[in-house]
Amino acid sequence: MSRNHHPNLWPPFTSITTTPPLEQVVRGEGALLHRAEGGPLIDGISSWWVTLHGHAHPVVAAAIAEQAATLEQVIFAEFTHPQAERLAQRLAQHTHLDRVFFSDNGSTAVEVALKTAVQWWHNRGEPRQQLIAFDGAYHGDTFGAMAVGARSLFSEPFDPLLFPVARVPWPHTHWDDATVDQREQEALSALEQALKTPTAAVILEPLVQGAGGMRMVRPAFLQAVEQQVRQAGSLLIADEVLAGFGRCGTLLASQRAGIHPDLVALSKGLTAGFLPMGITMARESIFAEFLGSDPTRTLWHGHSFTANPLGCAAANASLDLLEAEPENYQRFEERHQPRLERLARHPKVQRPRLCGTIAAFDLVTDSAEGYLNPAGKILRSLVREHGVLIRPLGDVVYLLPPLCISDAQLDQCYDAIETGLDALRDQA
Ligand SMILES: *Cc1c(COP(=O)(O)O)cnc(C)c1O
Repeated sequence: MSRNHHPNLWPPFTSITTTPPLEQVVRGEGALLHRAEGGPLIDGISSWWVTLHGHAHPVVAAAIAEQAATLEQVIFAEFTHPQAERLAQRLAQHTHLDRVFFSDNGSTAVEVALKTAVQWWHNRGEPRQQLIAFDGAYHGDTFGAMAVGARSLFSEPFDPLLFPVARVPWPHTHWDDATVDQREQEALSALEQALKTPTAAVILEPLVQGAGGMRMVRPAFLQAVEQQVRQAGSLLIADEVLAGFGRCGTLLASQRAGIHPDLVALSKGLTAGFLPMGITMARESIFAEFLGSDPTRTLWHGHSFTANPLGCAAANASLDLLEAEPENYQRFEERHQPRLERLARHPKVQRPRLCGTIAAFDLVTDSAEGYLNPAGKILRSLVREHGVLIRPLGDVVYLLPPLCISDAQLDQCYDAIETGLDALRDQA
């Protein structure tokens, strides 16, 4: 390819020394990305897990355009606006959480949840510092979110600056997993032990850890976690930044998991992937501790673009679509099932797993390098040659497509992966 890396761009999560020049995308439509050069690509990963109904979806696009010509932004500490009020009311109806705090992205939604939890205890006059998170967790790239996330290559330069967090194993499972009962018991024992220290909150990604490698747990495990958290009088934070808005087969993953978190972080699919926005939802009993004339009780946190009207308009349009056709996300798992079953018989495939719109497996490789495992990168370019965008997490391969993907396009994704796996097997 003749292109070079652009001299003025600094791409995220990318070593440009070892990555080929980024391709230019000029248009999106449904599940397709149209490039400046080369044919269309099927977006098998919803462009980093955000594109919900499809690229440039006309209903969402029209809602944003109309809002942009009506009210583009207003200071949210002085005013409210109809889109924010409508969105907050709808989200409260869909959950048991009455209060909606707006911010800018998934990381800030998590930061707000953490700060709210810690200050809640402070405001009650019983300060608690300990936070508990799970092995392999990913909660974002800002400092607080990084601190509750697993320590890794990504966090290494900052590790000395990250506040300490108690860690519990994440008993992730897959089809035909013989050891999961045992590992769930071990994780619950570790949690019980950790909760002996007064704990402000336990944070988890319900049903599936995303960036940690699409690592899925069973609902019963999460219910047992919640029970322990309740017994310890601690708070439960669900980071649904990835899992929310139908990704796991229900509107919120907590619903399918059967848990009732006190705080929920939302982003990614919230605006259907059109605009950056984050939301932290809280129980009324959490909000109540922030009331009063004493200024130290206030949550002194905010962002310039809080409750941006364009983002709220996009989110309301997206909720319209989700409410009108819930079967689009409710039945997605059935669409993956037969193709993943077939893929599971491939010699390069192990630990297949499925949750809602997310299908994943681990590559069989000789190397144990995790995120830097080259096999995933090789597979990614083999699959790209067949017109499909995937982005394995090291040796973890997954499909996480937009809801609009057609059966033929989904078949093409699986065919491309199968062909790529054959090539990998023959290279070995
Ligand atoms: C992506 C992600 C985040 C961070 O969201 P950003 O918008 O990238 O800051 C947090 N938690 C989970 C579970 C995520 O998948």
